[in-house]
Amino acid sequence: MTAALLFRDDAYLKDCEATVTAINDKGGILLDRTVFYATAGGQPGDKGTLAWDGGEAMIATTVYDETKDVVHVPAEGAPLPGVGAKVKLALDWANRFRTMRAHTLMHLLCASVPFPVTGGAIGDEGGRIDFDIPDGQIPDKAELTATLNRLVSEDHPVSYRWITDDEMAANQHLIRTMSVKPPMGTGRVRLVMIGEGGKVDLQPCGGTHVSSTGVIGPVAVAKIENKGKINRRIRVVFQ
Ligand SMILES: [Zn+2]
Repeated sequence: MTAALLFRDDAYLKDCEATVTAINDKGGILLDRTVFYATAGGQPGDKGTLAWDGGEAMIATTVYDETKDVVHVPAEGAPLPGVGAKVKLALDWANRFRTMRAHTLMHLLCASVPFPVTGGAIGDEGGRIDFDIPDGQIPDKAELTATLNRLVSEDHPVSYRWITDDEMAANQHLIRTMSVKPPMGTGRVRLVMIGEGGKVDLQPCGGTHVSSTGVIGPVAVAKIENKGKINRRIRVVFQ
């Protein structure tokens, strides 16, 4: 049994109680449930604290192991709870909330630049996506900034819909590389819809998002860089 991912149903959960199911051979902590997002799809893993009767450990990051279970990686030298211990997990919420704003912003960027996506990443100041954009079609920085800020100020709701793997397979056009793909094979996939019915953006994504685009706040396109023949890296930052 892998950990139940509570953030999939509510990205605004800041803490939860859980039971330690295992400590792996690298000292990573496995739980029956978690609010911590594990590094995937350009979104960094969560940080925070894990406390139990008689101890507390800082969690430096969160990753997936080879079985796709969530591993809470303690800071170096931190004490470890015993297997079976009841623990309380608490997110570094300031860090996660900024990440949620940046991740949702990346959906808006993806929706505003109609070219193939080849990569992406989120950082403290915002995030970036790499697109394949032919010469002559590179967006104007100021225009793209205005488009993104319009989508932010229109405050479009973010909602979710689960579909079956078969429905997903029949709708491959929905998949853009930036998306944090929920694993296929569990029978269902989560679609993220921005705007009514997904009119702004609609794609499968297992990441964490804010409740509406207005929460992102004002942004600006900082840079459009050439990273190859047609590869363009667009970096957007919070203002
Ligand atoms: Zn997403």
